[in-house]
Amino acid sequence: MPIQRVGVMGAGTMGNGIAHVFARCGYDVVLCDVEQRFLDRGLETIGKNLDREVAKNKISVADKAAALGRITPVLDRARLADCELIIEAATEKFEIKAEIFRDLDRLMKPEVILASNTSSISITKIGALTKRPDKVIGMHFFNPVPVMKLVEVIRGMATSQTTYETVRDLAVKLEKTPVEVNDAPGFVSNRVLMPLLNEAMYAVMEGVATPQAVDEVFKLGMAHPMGPLTLADFIGLDVCLDIMRVLQDGLGDPKYRPCPLLIKMVDAGWLGRKSGRGFYSYP
Ligand code: NAD
Repeated sequence: MPIQRVGVMGAGTMGNGIAHVFARCGYDVVLCDVEQRFLDRGLETIGKNLDREVAKNKISVADKAAALGRITPVLDRARLADCELIIEAATEKFEIKAEIFRDLDRLMKPEVILASNTSSISITKIGALTKRPDKVIGMHFFNPVPVMKLVEVIRGMATSQTTYETVRDLAVKLEKTPVEVNDAPGFVSNRVLMPLLNEAMYAVMEGVATPQAVDEVFKLGMAHPMGPLTLADFIGLDVCLDIMRVLQDGLGDPKYRPCPLLIKMVDAGWLGRKSGRGFYSYP
């Protein structure tokens, strides 16, 4: 089935970025969230990010208007029914994703691919909740989606070759670079990245260095474009904690224990950039 109309579940950090990229590349997008204010905020972010692309002469003012015009915000999931592919980018909690996939499986035509942007949850486990595990796959974009080139394409145990090739080719059409990965907790990206961020948090908690000092070490010594604590704030500390828990549960090794400082900060509502406070303040 040719893909022209794409549904995106969740209008947060990733969902609005995914909607942005599809719409900018000419796809019709149905963007779904649970409350109108999340849709409004997502669309506002897309507008601002498209403005940035206009300012950099990547797209014209008319392209911006056309891209925004291709996005339909909806609260009612039933309005996704005519989409040819769904990408789920809702909160990183298994129960939330499980409910969404069961419902989408019921709602969508049997040939529709259901992709998840999950950072760490098992694609195999999500697929097994549906009657179409061969059409369930990971399509893992990176933040900020309009800028980052990588899409980790994750094959669940039952994902078919056709589903894999469809999503891989779609990533190329979005001007991204797909990389094939098998299903395992955290895949490649977060299996390697998150323990680094978590360890940087331990260094801060134990008074080894300030967040600024830890970040300087990585920027100047390892040529990272941003330090691990700035990156953690950018990703969202709640998202980091959820991923560490998936690694801990899935791999069972104590080295994946979430840093107690991370847990405390999430309990305090200090979620990083999106809440105005994390390892740094964002007035
Ligand atoms: P976020 O908190 O910014 O946004 C999540 C959105 O999902 C919210 O707007 C929320 O209202 C919505 N939502 C929750 N339940 C829903 C439901 N039942 N139906 C529809 N929408 C629902 O989170 P995010 O950072 O955008 O993360 C989304 C997904 O992308 C997660 O699986 C996360 O692991 C993954 N991811 C995040 C990053 C990152 O850097 N933040 C990078 C790659 C992947």
